[in-house]
This record gives sequence, C-alpha cells and structure tokens, in this order.
Amino acid sequence: MKARGLLSAMASCRCPRCRTGKVFYGHPYSFRRQRSNQVCAHCGLYFEVEPGYFYISMYISYGFAVFEALIAAFILYSLTHSESPWLYGFVLISIIILMAPINYRYSRIALLYMTPKIKYDPRYHIDD
Ligand SMILES: [Zn+2]
Repeated sequence: MKARGLLSAMASCRCPRCRTGKVFYGHPYSFRRQRSNQVCAHCGLYFEVEPGYFYISMYISYGFAVFEALIAAFILYSLTHSESPWLYGFVLISIIILMAPINYRYSRIALLYMTPKIKYDPRYHIDD
C-alpha cells in the first residue's frame, strides 16, 4: 500500500486526513453539482471544522484570482503591447470568471491542508 503524496492528494482534491476520500463531487464547471461533501466518505472527517470555517477560503480564492489576473496581464502585455483598458478589462474579467470554480475548489483544499488540527494519518489511507 503506497501512500498518496501531499501534492497529488491536493491536486486531486482528496481529504487531508486519509488522502483517499474526495472533498467535492461533480464537475467543477457544472452549475448543478458544484458541491463539497460534508463528511469524508472514507475516514469520516467532518470538513467544516467549525461554523463559518470556509469563509476564510474566500480570501485565499481572492489571492488566487489576483495572482492569475497579474499573470494574465503580463502575458497579455508581452503579446500585444496594448495600453487599452478595455482589452485588459475584458480579458482579465473573463479569466477571473472562468477560473472561479477552480479557485473555489483549490482555496478550500488549501485551507483544509493548512489547518493545524487536521493531519495526515496513514492508518486511514487505502489505495483506490
Ligand atoms: Zn478522509
């Protein structure tokens, strides 16, 4: 039984304690099924550690969005050398909207993995 690595578990949105159970179900770009599970189906970890716990992930998501917009702005400027605010506004707002579901997921995952109360426990890990 080989344990899933930290980055692999984070990239595949797995539970931080067992690295086996999925934190989300459904596709990130599906409007109907973009939901996170309340409890890990594998180890029983309750993901929302305390009421309002995931509000902090909004700030992480904001940081992701700013970082992506800056990268996109640098790439856009290096490709076009344009100074039109309309071009930057349209492209950057489009990128922020398109990346919002991904930022939603990975900001929650980053928060879960940074929480000191939740540690990886190899006893819960089972390869699937
Ligand atoms: Zn778990």
